[in-house]
Amino acid sequence: MSGASRTGARVVVVGAGILGASIGYHLAQAAARVTIVDGHDAVGGATAASFAWINASHGNPQPYFGFRLQAMAEWRMLNEALGRKLPLRWGGSIEWWDEPEELRRAVAEQTAWGYPIRLIGRDEIAALEPAIATPPAEAAFAALEGVVAPVAATEILLEAAQALGASLRRGVPLEMTTDGGRVGLRLGGTRLEAERIVLAAGADCGPLLAGLGVDLPMANAPGLLVHTKPAPSLIQHLVLSPGAHVKQDVDGRLVVGETFGGGPVPDDHAAEAEKLLQRVRACLQGAEALEVERVTVGVRPIPRDGLPIIGAVAGLEGLFLAVMHSGITLAPLVGRLTAVEVLGGGPVEILAPYRLARFAAG
Ligand SMILES: Cc1cc2nc3c(=O)[nH]c(=O)nc-3n(C[C@H](O)[C@H](O)[C@H](O)COP(=O)(O)OP(=O)(O)OC[C@H]3O[C@@H](n4cnc5c(N)ncnc54)[C@H](O)[C@@H]3O)c2cc1C
Repeated sequence: MSGASRTGARVVVVGAGILGASIGYHLAQAAARVTIVDGHDAVGGATAASFAWINASHGNPQPYFGFRLQAMAEWRMLNEALGRKLPLRWGGSIEWWDEPEELRRAVAEQTAWGYPIRLIGRDEIAALEPAIATPPAEAAFAALEGVVAPVAATEILLEAAQALGASLRRGVPLEMTTDGGRVGLRLGGTRLEAERIVLAAGADCGPLLAGLGVDLPMANAPGLLVHTKPAPSLIQHLVLSPGAHVKQDVDGRLVVGETFGGGPVPDDHAAEAEKLLQRVRACLQGAEALEVERVTVGVRPIPRDGLPIIGAVAGLEGLFLAVMHSGITLAPLVGRLTAVEVLGGGPVEILAPYRLARFAAG
């Protein structure tokens, strides 16, 4: 069906990162008349600066853990729907901490929740990932986890949305105004008509909503990653050591980060990159020749309590919001469920813990 012959709701999605792309794709699949807009010409924002680990295992409370686990399965389903084109790499993660007791406790808890995670010893670590130079005595192996190349995946979703009739308008930021509870949109000086609007603008959701009189409680934090030039196959799993986490994407590039929470980023990016690469060289055999291709610094969009904010914005007719950290892990699930709610099929029960109203309720 072409965009012109569609008769569904007219929806504007603000932001063409991984979340806007997934929401736009799922809306287009449901026959909505979709326009996705982005202020930049190419995939940027948090998505382009993301480590893009797809996981449920990282210190999450049980209901949110379950939500993430469902999202992991949705990546696999989405990949099937898209003809297995997504640049996913499964195989699991191998993770060890400075505090083995805490790791054991986390593994026991997640095992009790039914997660396929287990402690493995030195021999098994070496067998699974021979590149690890000095395997620790013990690590957690989470078999279902994986990674995606975030920019390529976003482009594939945007193309799939367009093939279903969505239009993509990049390079001009959207302006939003409000008049008596209705949101008005302007793109490049021209009015843009929409019955529904989905705000998926990452770290820019806060300022955009502030302009509409809505307070979005965010605690955004920067994050730096080192991307190497493509290298021969070195690791088959995510390797998450105390000093550095490393993945190798399907294109051969390794991506290295230091922390998952975000925090101050040093001014000297080159020195920071060299420091992280030294840690990788110490951790992995065969990493000596790795060369830095680029360093990215992105802003993690983090709601104040760490959980996603998804759903209709009270008091602003037709406006929906999807902002979260772990947007890579969650994009397929959040995209599908947001499309259901935007098109009037909601409220979706499993989104109930993630409403903006929870902050007003204290
Ligand atoms: C260093 C780092 C590591 C991370 N690691 C992981 C990880 O391992 N696993 C994981 O799941 N998540 C991870 N994340 C978080 C994840 O990347 C984000 O949650 C996700 O990318 C957010 O996607 P998004 O589409 O909401 O936002 P973005 O990718 O930021 O996209 C928002 C888009 O909105 C556009 N926009 C903003 N304002 C306007 C406007 N007025 N008009 C038009 N367009 C506008 C921007 O140009 C941008 O393209 C990480 C993030 C960082 C920075």
